[in-house]
Amino acid sequence: MKLNILGCGGSESPDIHPPAFLVDDFLLLDAGVISAVLSPEAQQKITHILISHAHHDHVRGLPSFFDNLIVAGQQKAVQVIAGEETLRAVSEHLFNDAIWPDFSRLPSIERPVLSWRSIEPGPDLHLGDYVISAFVVNHSVPTLAFRIQHQGVSLFYASDMGPTPSLWRQIGQPDALIIEVSFPNQLEDLALKTGHLTPILMAAELALLPQRPPQIFVTHLKTFHAEKILEEIRGLNIPELTILQDGQQFNLRANPR
Ligand SMILES: [Zn+2]
Ligand SMILES: [Zn+2]
Repeated sequence: MKLNILGCGGSESPDIHPPAFLVDDFLLLDAGVISAVLSPEAQQKITHILISHAHHDHVRGLPSFFDNLIVAGQQKAVQVIAGEETLRAVSEHLFNDAIWPDFSRLPSIERPVLSWRSIEPGPDLHLGDYVISAFVVNHSVPTLAFRIQHQGVSLFYASDMGPTPSLWRQIGQPDALIIEVSFPNQLEDLALKTGHLTPILMAAELALLPQRPPQIFVTHLKTFHAEKILEEIRGLNIPELTILQDGQQFNLRANPR
């Protein structure tokens, strides 16, 4: 499973984009950035976009992406897949014909470039031979984490979450895990109030896993506190941790168990 880090920031700054992770060229996990970093050809390979929640930094790449598709004469709808509340928020407040056109009705109602599809915890969703599962996580708005399984490889993606102790026994044994750390330890109150993690809070979540995955990717650092957070994450001495950077690519493999 190929994983391209299009953006992994918890805030925007030069060379750091909000969260967007491209799996095997066709499946995008969150849409913090798309057209600012992908060629037109690469954009046209995307067929499905999973959105964790409706916050601006996770959907802000969608408007210009769909604008590009319609201009390019795209024939097939790209599916935007999310929980019901997220779909409602994005369609009512972003693609509402006021902020941006309703691309689920363009270029025609019969053959639009965007189609909405809901996902909920429980039943798996199948995209070809990829199996997607959704899990509720604690954040300031309704938010889902996702597990993507394909040919024996399992990737678990949780962006934007506060402590969610019940989560970790449900997710099986992923080969790779993406998890957030937004704030340094001294801002724990703010992290808890806004539904985010600090290095110490993240370590407490990871300690609830029956077994740590061989690769744990950290995302969503707030740029203004990045140095401090990096220092505190290194201090955790968890060897599996990698702090992500925009532009990185990984080839995820099944971990022999
Ligand atoms: Zn958020
Ligand atoms: Zn975010």
